[in-house]
Amino acid sequence: MKTDAPIKCSCGKVEGVARGLSRSSTNHVVCSCKGCQSYAHYLGRTDDMLDAEGGSNIVQMDPSKFEITRGMENVVCMRVTNDGPLRWYTSCCNTPLGNTFPRGGLPFIGFLPICLGIKGTSEELVALVGKSRGHVNRPEKTPLFDRIGNVFMIIGLFCKIMFWRVRGGPAFKPFFDAETMRPMVKPIKISDEERAELEAKAGF
Ligand SMILES: [Zn+2]
Ligand SMILES: [Zn+2]
Repeated sequence: MKTDAPIKCSCGKVEGVARGLSRSSTNHVVCSCKGCQSYAHYLGRTDDMLDAEGGSNIVQMDPSKFEITRGMENVVCMRVTNDGPLRWYTSCCNTPLGNTFPRGGLPFIGFLPICLGIKGTSEELVALVGKSRGHVNRPEKTPLFDRIGNVFMIIGLFCKIMFWRVRGGPAFKPFFDAETMRPMVKPIKISDEERAELEAKAGF
């Protein structure tokens, strides 16, 4: 069953809707990379974004189904590292929205469930998009069986992105300019010192 879920930042200025959520229309993963954990500290929202082991639930989907309907003037993006993904969030209340490639074109967004009001790993999230298909960038060595699972998960995601591309054409919604495929706002860069501080807070 596909469900539309309301997107709402914590203060209510930014609203939208994630359309057609289901297990088959999304790729739900847990990521424990340095960037995701630093980002949660950057926003000051570790309680809302990280599970007990420091993992972020991320739901990857077709970005054309992730619509912002109100408050777009409060949407900004940052990069933890110069070559990392664009991490979009609201400037009004530091609510993470989703992570994208640096340019539009390939349809992909990995949203953070707290923008739907869902914290960490929960039954509510599993009901919407199914259980996590893989835990990536784990701090400890990933067992062989899980590594094989992750390879299949990534192949599955690649097939989905190709399907979304064929279905919808080059993607620019909701955060890119349709002509240039550049982000609609200039990404915020952090200094090396700030990055080191965030990583230290995250325990790296
Ligand atoms: Zn807000
Ligand atoms: Zn990550």
